[in-house]
Amino acid sequence: MSIGSTWYRQSLLTFTGIPLVEKLSTSYGKKLASRFVAGETLGEALNEVEKLGKLGIMATLDHLGEGVHDIGEAGSYKEQYVKLIDGITERGVSSNVSLKPTQMGLALDQAACYANIREVVKHARRHRNFVRIDMENTPYTKSTLDMVKRLHAEGLTNVGTVLQAYLFRTEQDVKDMLQARISLRLVKGAYKESAEVAFQSKAEVLVSFKSMIKQHLDRRVYTAIASHDDQIISWVKTYARAHRIPKNVFEFQMLYGLRMKEQAQLASEGYRVRCYVPYGSMWYPYFTRRLAEKPANLLLVLKHMFK
Ligand SMILES: Cc1cc2nc3c(=O)[nH]c(=O)nc-3n(C[C@H](O)[C@H](O)[C@H](O)COP(=O)(O)OP(=O)(O)OC[C@H]3O[C@@H](n4cnc5c(N)ncnc54)[C@H](O)[C@@H]3O)c2cc1C
Repeated sequence: MSIGSTWYRQSLLTFTGIPLVEKLSTSYGKKLASRFVAGETLGEALNEVEKLGKLGIMATLDHLGEGVHDIGEAGSYKEQYVKLIDGITERGVSSNVSLKPTQMGLALDQAACYANIREVVKHARRHRNFVRIDMENTPYTKSTLDMVKRLHAEGLTNVGTVLQAYLFRTEQDVKDMLQARISLRLVKGAYKESAEVAFQSKAEVLVSFKSMIKQHLDRRVYTAIASHDDQIISWVKTYARAHRIPKNVFEFQMLYGLRMKEQAQLASEGYRVRCYVPYGSMWYPYFTRRLAEKPANLLLVLKHMFK
């Protein structure tokens, strides 16, 4: 990772040092975020999911919200997820759901968080749907993995989580999760983590990312590979072809608003593609992370805004 890109990412993640971005985000808020967020309401988001379906792209819907301040708030997010699952069934669209553990109360009360997530997963199971627990920053890694393992041990297998290539601990977590055959989304990692726990260079993250993808493809354990990186996508395609790994053993995932043409192209080539579709009024932290990942995302937003 170059000094320039590290500075850019960290500046945005800590949200200091780029007054222009701060001003744009706070003054133009919703309009800026609409490049990456599919609307404020469930109805708006489902309309976008229907459009994606026409291109052969599946979805995972995320009702935005994280770091809630009281457990009652977490309870109302849980209710939103129950409604979301009902909405998916009623519209008959191809979508599962993604949720953040801190949105369900993980930072406040682990037992209540577990009960909230369990209720969402049980509701999803009744609707033959699947719940992906997003991975947040390292204070929550172990507890998130523990919750998912516990749900599986209870027989609730329609739940999976995410492993981040930038964390040192992931090497062991991949083995544990493979052993338990828990469905995973594999990512590079989006949060600011210290050199004590995470690789800091792009090259090291890439090596780790490829290693975890390879282990899953080799074992034919259904896996979601979430990346916009051409290098990763073409490497996966080549590796799968060379090792006769069928296209239905994995899916590519990308974020709503990013590389939409490439998403449609992959779908037209017969790959399974799922778009992560966030919606809701709590767009700010999600939006800031997208800007932090890539300076070009800021340009995309500006272009969209002045169209
Ligand atoms: C569906 C999904 C779910 C995710 N869930 C989580 C999660 O639960 N927890 C978590 O920590 N992180 C999550 N992430 C974020 C992830 O960890 C990375 O921060 C993010 O995907 C950026 O890494 P990248 O591999 O996409 O590409 P980057 O490392 O950002 O970029 C690498 C290269 O890819 C190409 N590229 C990237 N973006 C673009 C673009 N917009 N246009 C053109 N070229 C581009 C460029 O060549 C670039 O140099 C998720 C990502 C996705 C896609």
